[in-house]
Amino acid sequence: MEDAPINNNTGAEKRPFSEGMPVGTIIKSVEAFQVKWEPNEPPGRRTAFVRVTTEDGIVGHGEASPMMGGEHSLGVIRDFADSLVGADALDQAMIYDRLLHKYVKLGPEGAVTGALAALDIALWDIKGKHFNLPVYKLLGGAWRTEMPFYASVGNNAGRTVDETVRVVEQRWRTEKPAAIKIRWDGDRTRQDYDIPGDIAKAKAVRKLVGDDFPLAFDANNQYSVGGAIRVGRALEELGYIWFEEPVQHYNVRAMGEVAQRLDITVSAAEQSYTTQAVVDMINAGVRMVQPDIVKMGGITGLMQCAAICFAHGVELVPHQTQPMIAHVANLHVLATLMHNTKPAEFSDPSTRMHVGFANPPIPEDGKFKVPSGPGLGLIVNDAELDKRRS
Ligand code: CA
Repeated sequence: MEDAPINNNTGAEKRPFSEGMPVGTIIKSVEAFQVKWEPNEPPGRRTAFVRVTTEDGIVGHGEASPMMGGEHSLGVIRDFADSLVGADALDQAMIYDRLLHKYVKLGPEGAVTGALAALDIALWDIKGKHFNLPVYKLLGGAWRTEMPFYASVGNNAGRTVDETVRVVEQRWRTEKPAAIKIRWDGDRTRQDYDIPGDIAKAKAVRKLVGDDFPLAFDANNQYSVGGAIRVGRALEELGYIWFEEPVQHYNVRAMGEVAQRLDITVSAAEQSYTTQAVVDMINAGVRMVQPDIVKMGGITGLMQCAAICFAHGVELVPHQTQPMIAHVANLHVLATLMHNTKPAEFSDPSTRMHVGFANPPIPEDGKFKVPSGPGLGLIVNDAELDKRRS
């Protein structure tokens, strides 16, 4: 990979991005690091952060997808970090597209877009701090500054029916979510291996919360088309409101077939890393898409998805599992969506990361407040993050 600085425009005009722009937003440094919150924390529970500092000392924070601890995305950020020195942070969309096309041969569906998403979130944080406005104002304004959330309860493939009910009950009673999603997180090399058991868990959870409470079922890609239809029909009977990723995400036509044949809303696209991949899922027949801000273009990419979904009449319900930086970035985007049909995802209620932030997002009465401070509105304790770098 060549090391040409990103501010050296290689197009026809040969001028730096930063010409004529305020000096306060010129990038001085880009750091990418993993944070380990607890001793012996497995890589999948660590977080992957990026910190961008401008010449005037504005600091922006971003977060990459935590898949495999985010190490692969962090590697890409470290590769391009030096080339960003001297670029203008306000040019976040140009920087994104330039780097995406520089690294596209590594494959745009994965670590590269995770890296770019982290950078994009940090640059929006800087933009907000520079203009002294919350990100949602820069995006066009907030329809709401409080977001109801749903509790996303994972790892149920390995639990009995009773264990599943107990875990769901604990979160239902303590967090007071607007809805609950039960996730399977099963063995991805097997299909359809316990459909009666899966349906039994869905039934038991319905019995726990009563007929009217909104429930969703996330298969985590574990069914064949036939298996998915069978489970989907049971979920329709049980009044579940959506059926997430019933089949492998890479079988786009199969996902579309399941979506078209069932009455229950089928959702997908949390594993889509480009706008083109989201459009493929919509064209296949999926009518609720779930791109994730740390995989699909950051704030810029999610706003592009919002326009695509609005134009197609498709529900946008972003996937989002990280509790701090990515969570808040996601809330800023959700605040700006006119049609917001489902609550925000809340997957990890642990408070282990609170130590890194003066104002960590904390749910109250089933809702999160969208921070109104400049940028993302998160006050980050950088010294604490530096202590926990791994
Ligand atoms: Ca999911």
